[in-house]
Amino acid sequence: MREIIIIGSGPAGYTAAIYAARANLKPLVIASSVEAGGELMNTTEVENYPGFPEGIQGPDLMAQFQAQAERFGAEVVYDDVASLELEGDVKRVTLGSGETHEAKSIIVATGSAYRKLGLDDEERLSGHGVSWCATCDGFFFREKTIAVVGGGDSAMEEATFLTRFASKVYVIHRRDSLKASKIMQDRAFANEKIEFVWNSEVTGITGDEGVTGVILNDTVTGEVSALDVQGLFVAIGNDPRTHVVHGQLDLTDDGTIAVSGRSSKTNLPGVFAAGDVIDPHYRQAVTAAASGTVAALDAEEYLASLPQAPLADASENELAVVTH
Ligand SMILES: Cc1cc2nc3c(=O)[nH]c(=O)nc-3n(C[C@H](O)[C@H](O)[C@H](O)COP(=O)(O)OP(=O)(O)OC[C@H]3O[C@@H](n4cnc5c(N)ncnc54)[C@H](O)[C@@H]3O)c2cc1C
Repeated sequence: MREIIIIGSGPAGYTAAIYAARANLKPLVIASSVEAGGELMNTTEVENYPGFPEGIQGPDLMAQFQAQAERFGAEVVYDDVASLELEGDVKRVTLGSGETHEAKSIIVATGSAYRKLGLDDEERLSGHGVSWCATCDGFFFREKTIAVVGGGDSAMEEATFLTRFASKVYVIHRRDSLKASKIMQDRAFANEKIEFVWNSEVTGITGDEGVTGVILNDTVTGEVSALDVQGLFVAIGNDPRTHVVHGQLDLTDDGTIAVSGRSSKTNLPGVFAAGDVIDPHYRQAVTAAASGTVAALDAEEYLASLPQAPLADASENELAVVTH
């Protein structure tokens, strides 16, 4: 039986793995079969991760995370968790392949997924003008004309934030009124750089190397039009990836896994959660990494509190020393 299994290979999962591996807990990381490395695998330049003053490509950053975890003995399996049994002292993890692993503790670091428009162009131009994160990518759009899709609080927040960089921000919304709170609406309406495009759905994104415009469909008249923009921010919501823990772990009203205070402790002993899957608000690589640290330290503390089986010899005893 393993001491610890970590589910997810984004910044939270790999950081938890680095800490757990350095504590000689020999973590097993279930990295996913097709999405190993997490959300940053979908992006190009990351300019806000500390330690890389020139910036770094998302996939290169995640390769460094993985190499660092493996250097200390983390084992990585490229498979998906199909089901989990989290109650009791022994946790069982069943993978897509049918393989089963047991562990005394689990860290769930499965991230969250930005809702997408579902357009082929969106995938094609992801990281080349199409973005889901203004905090991450706003800086690349200085003096550009851009559009934000959405009508909720996060769309208003993104649009208002983006006016710091862009010369003009269109907010495209499929209805004629917003879902956003009054204060967020008022802020957006008062901003001279923001113009609303009502009753409109984005049905296409134009451009080869980068975004040059969007195709709009009027939801009332059916009229099709084109709008020239150099960037498109999709702000239509975010879904924490919690399906494997449904019915076992408590969730918050935001749909994230509920944890106790600033810790990573879930409602079940020995089960911890970290990264975007517990975070309805900040959702950055560095905050996810920090949260992975918290989870590894909480798991270490939990494991140390369990009754210990007698060690076989002195060399194992030395291995059990935890260093930070
Ligand atoms: C396009 C884009 C650009 C971004 N740019 C930046 C940026 O410049 N700077 C920044 O700080 N942040 C950026 N972010 C946000 C950042 O990527 C996330 O905040 C961060 O990756 C969250 O880390 P995480 O480890 O919690 O989750 P994730 O990175 O989402 O990783 C979750 C992992 O869990 C795995 N997983 C999920 N379910 C299962 C399962 N059942 N079995 C096995 N594995 C599973 C996934 O496959 C994935 O590997 C960007 C996000 C996107 C989408």
